[in-house]
Order: sequence, then structure tokens, then C-alpha cells
Amino acid sequence: MAFLPQKVQLYNPLPATKLENVREFLQLVGSYLAYLQALGIEEMPAWPEIKSFLELDPLVPTTLEELEAEIRRCRKCPLHRTRTQAVPGEGPCPSEIMLVGEAPGREEDLEGRPFVGAAGKLLGKMLSAIGLSREEVYITNVVKCRPPGNRTPEAEELQACRPYLARQIRLVKPRAILALGAVAARSLLLQQVPLSRLRGRPYEIDGIRVVVSYHPAYLLRNPAAKKAAWEDLQLFRSLLSGGAR
Ligand code: SF4
Repeated sequence: MAFLPQKVQLYNPLPATKLENVREFLQLVGSYLAYLQALGIEEMPAWPEIKSFLELDPLVPTTLEELEAEIRRCRKCPLHRTRTQAVPGEGPCPSEIMLVGEAPGREEDLEGRPFVGAAGKLLGKMLSAIGLSREEVYITNVVKCRPPGNRTPEAEELQACRPYLARQIRLVKPRAILALGAVAARSLLLQQVPLSRLRGRPYEIDGIRVVVSYHPAYLLRNPAAKKAAWEDLQLFRSLLSGGAR
């Protein structure tokens, strides 16, 4: 008898009896957490197994709206204590193009939208220079809550928030990603090297083309880098038209 290779289906629905067990288990956990909350306990230490379980991508399909709501409720890292609100991202879904920045700044934190204010205006100009409009791209950041004083996100914050970006990419299904700034570039390419060494050439992650460039906020402070940013945009444009292989 021939054995067929086993097919793994990520979204295989659970049998009804198992679903009942899962529901029962979640209800129990829910009542226990409500009990702890009633006692005034807001946080509990998590041992490594729990931490890694919480960071797993759930196998259940989610819509972008559900994911954005989950991000707004998130308290996985200390940034939830200082934010006004989380900034999940905005734009069409699916979208051929995705832009990824570092983290919300002061205005983004107040408005709940990514890339507003002076950096957002410059981003709009950069996009229109290559024939794109803000409305046709999905825009987000690696870290969804503002670090106090706009400091660079810490390793713990990046690690806690990065799974959201992975899930957004899965849902938005972009053909190409423009990573803006060192934090976005390193988070996507998993390379701890300076931005100047990452930019200037295309990458590919799971079939998605990636180009790295400077963050608009950096360009506002360092106008001399605009020439290099323009070259990056040209490279990105040529990828979108099917060039630069
Ligand atoms: S920065 Fe990310 S992980 Fe931290 S609280 Fe905000 S959404 Fe959650």
C-alpha cells in the first residue's frame, strides 16, 4: 500500500468536541483573570514558555480590522503605560505596497494615525515623486506605541511588537515593502548593521521585494541625505514596474 505524504493545513478547523474543550478552557482562564483583576492584580510574571506562546501567531484567520483592534488593546510591553493610544496603521487591504517606519511620534500618538505632521508631509511628497499616493499604500510602524520622548524602541519593545507587523504583512499581502529607517530595515531584514550598508539594493522576504531608505524624520534633520533617498525611491519604483531583479 502506498503512503501519501501528510498534508499540513494551517487553518484546518478543530473538531466540534475539541472546540468545546477550548471554549471551556478559555472561559476558565477568563474567570480566573477576572478574579485576579477584582483583587487588584494587574500584571503577572510570565515564564519563558508562556511568553513564547503569547508571541506565537494564532492559526485562526483574522481580519485586519480585528488585528488593529487587538493592537489598540495591547499591553504586551511597557509602552502601553505612556501612550495616548496605539497606532496600528492605515491603508487599503490588500495593498500592493506597504511602508514600514519605526514607531509613532508625538503627533501620531495624539491622532492615532501613522506618519502625520512634518514627516508625514515629506512622505507624501516622496510618494508622489514616484507616482504614488498615500491612499493606495498601507502604512505602519514596527512598534505601534510611541516611545517616550521619541527615543529609539528598546529590544524588549521590538520583540513584543514585531509579531503584529508579521501578521499585518500576511493580511495586507504586499508585493513590495519600503522600509523607512534603520529600525524598520533591521526588523525586516534581521541584520544588525548600519542603514547605510543596508540601503541601495533590493531584498526579498517570502517573495516580497524590500527596499530600505531613510526615515522622513531623518531627512528633515539631514537634508543632505535626500539625494540617496531619491535613489532608493527610484529603485523601489523600478521594482514595482518589474525591474531591478
Ligand atoms: S508597542 Fe506594541 S507590544 Fe508594546 S504595548 Fe504597544 S502594541 Fe503592544
